Amino acid sequence: MANSDELARERRARLAAERLLEMKQAELSDANRKLAAHARNLSEEIVEKREETAVLRQQTETVRHELETAKGAVLIAERRLWDSVETIQDGFAVFDADSTMIAANRAYLAPFEGLDSVGPGIRDEELLRIAAEEGVVDTDGAGRDDWVEDMMWRWRAPTIHPRVIRFWNGTFVRLVDRRTEGGDTVSLALNITAQIRYEARLKAARKTAEAASRAKSAFLANMSHEIRTPMNGIVGMAQLLDDSALDEEQRLYVETIRSSGEALLVLINDVLDYSKIEAERLTLHPEEFDLEQAVYEVATLLRPSVGTKPLTMLIDYDMFMPTRFVGDPGRVRQVLTNLVGNAVKFTESGHVLVRVSSLPDSAAGRQRVHVTVEDTGIGIAPDKRDHIFGEFNQVEDDRNRTFEGTGLGLAITKRLVEMMGGEIWVESEVGTGSSFGFFLTLELAVHAASPPPAAPGWLNRVLLADPLAAGRDILRRQLLAQKVAASGFGSADELRAAGPGAGDVVLLDAALSGSGPGPGDVAAALRADGFAGPIFVLSATPVRTGAEVTAVLHTPLRRHDVLRAIAAAPPRAPGAAPAEANARPGPRRRMRVLAAEDNRTNRLVFSKLVKSADIDLQFAENGREAVEAYRAAPPDLVFMDISMPEVDGKEATRRIRVVEADQGLPRVPVVAMTAHALAGDEDDILAAGLDHYLTKPLKKATILHHVAAACPAECLPPLPEDAPEAAGA
Ligand code: ADP
Repeated sequence: MANSDELARERRARLAAERLLEMKQAELSDANRKLAAHARNLSEEIVEKREETAVLRQQTETVRHELETAKGAVLIAERRLWDSVETIQDGFAVFDADSTMIAANRAYLAPFEGLDSVGPGIRDEELLRIAAEEGVVDTDGAGRDDWVEDMMWRWRAPTIHPRVIRFWNGTFVRLVDRRTEGGDTVSLALNITAQIRYEARLKAARKTAEAASRAKSAFLANMSHEIRTPMNGIVGMAQLLDDSALDEEQRLYVETIRSSGEALLVLINDVLDYSKIEAERLTLHPEEFDLEQAVYEVATLLRPSVGTKPLTMLIDYDMFMPTRFVGDPGRVRQVLTNLVGNAVKFTESGHVLVRVSSLPDSAAGRQRVHVTVEDTGIGIAPDKRDHIFGEFNQVEDDRNRTFEGTGLGLAITKRLVEMMGGEIWVESEVGTGSSFGFFLTLELAVHAASPPPAAPGWLNRVLLADPLAAGRDILRRQLLAQKVAASGFGSADELRAAGPGAGDVVLLDAALSGSGPGPGDVAAALRADGFAGPIFVLSATPVRTGAEVTAVLHTPLRRHDVLRAIAAAPPRAPGAAPAEANARPGPRRRMRVLAAEDNRTNRLVFSKLVKSADIDLQFAENGREAVEAYRAAPPDLVFMDISMPEVDGKEATRRIRVVEADQGLPRVPVVAMTAHALAGDEDDILAAGLDHYLTKPLKKATILHHVAAACPAECLPPLPEDAPEAAGA
């Protein structure tokens, strides 16, 4: 038993051991399996990592390569940039915010060659100091310290302005410096030596050209002088011939000689003026003058060129505007003469109206004077309007090919207006008319004109009869400004229909009658109707009137002419004999005129020219005699030749002015007569104390105009009312 038990127990133990073994073996194989799986994983990971490392290594290699390529490119770019910067002839440098030079090309440093301290690292101030002290730059007369100080001041300014400097070797550079956003300053030194030399050559060439132009201008002036002298003889003698007994054919020949001579003179004057303007030798001579008087004189002097055309010349000078200004009256008159002359030339019928108004300028004591010259003539086509102010430009077509002219008038006018600080323009409609306007800025004269005459107490209403509405309108406004009412009528019948009590004064325009009854007849009819007040006839040309007419007033009228005439007339003049508008009581003497002229022929011409004037004419044969004659009996007007033996006209005038001042005599108007037209002559003549300047050949109308203008109140009127000269012919 014991053995069997033993055996059983052993078998059981063996079985248990076998099971344990099996179990352990199973565990072991499981562990082995796990280990194998882990090992497999690990080796897979290792493979992966190895691959990644290879990729990374590859990438690093690529980046390194790219970096090297980029570095190479930067070096190439930098080298190219500096090669370019070095290639340019101009200097180039960069300074940092601290004004220390970071880099500069050879051209920039070239002027400092041999000065080792000049190069990158140097501060701007030090560079400037070396430039001044070592004589690298020409400081243009400034002290070295001042120059450096000035350049430093420039360098520190927020915006650095370009500056031209000159180096010791004659090189000119323009320094152009610019601050960058980063605070650096880029400095360019542009070599402008060639440009400066070219400018110098141009200047020299211009000087030569100007000298040639001056020579040309002097030649033209001399030539015009040479032409004028014989023309004096031709035109003067033609005028004298015209006054003598001639048959019709002879008169036609003489007229042709005279008008051709005058046309030639206009041409010579235009060419002379234009050549002076071109050579910039035309200077203005400002003095106090009366603008209204100038407009009036121009209109009056141009009146004869209207001839027989049914054309009325009107002046509308603003009632509230001053008349005395400082300017060059001769040139203002020339501008007006050109514009009014053209208006008359290109207008067959209707009116030519000169309007003058002004506004205070922004500068105290100055006025912006506007003048328009309006006509009802042929007009100018729009495409031609811009050209007419150019030289030798005429609107050439069938309509005005017949008109004479050089085509220089408006070119000269434009230049003159611009010289006087103004502008000129034109508005026009073909077939309707043109309006030329210009403005000038003129200083007001110290001496204002005398105040307008007061309207007499008995005057309430003026009756105006004028077929031209523009004329009625101007007169009505002028009277209204003096607080006098006016009624306008377009015809004599309308006026008469108003009745004899409608007003106190009648103004009858001579154009009213047309081919009907004359103004004398209308006046007689008004008297017959019972009108007893003054009747004035307004006329541009001499008219015959009857005893019913108080006076004839010559048109164009100045602002106060009508009121002045009314004030001088008796309020009631039933059937009174015609009286002068400016009639004054008391005996009156003849006007005394002194003419100084050394040439016998010219004295003869002069005496014939004033033959029609009722004056006491006295001649002096030189300046000395003129002064003696003046001392013996001061005349009312002096005509003074300029070049005379012993004492010339300028000196004689100076002496007369001294006598006047010493003896407290009124200033006698002295009119220069000269054949000289050289630049500067006019200055000298006017500076010597002469008032007006006439160039020979003298014109009868101009002489008589000066005589009439200078006639003092106490003298008999020098020109008979029905003489053609009275209208300024
Ligand atoms: P011109 O000596 O020919 O008159 P301007 O320079 O004075 O020369 O004028 C140039 C041209 O302008 C004239 O020829 C004319 O054709 C034109 N013109 C000037 N003024 C007028 C005007 N008031 N009406 C019509 N045309 C005019």
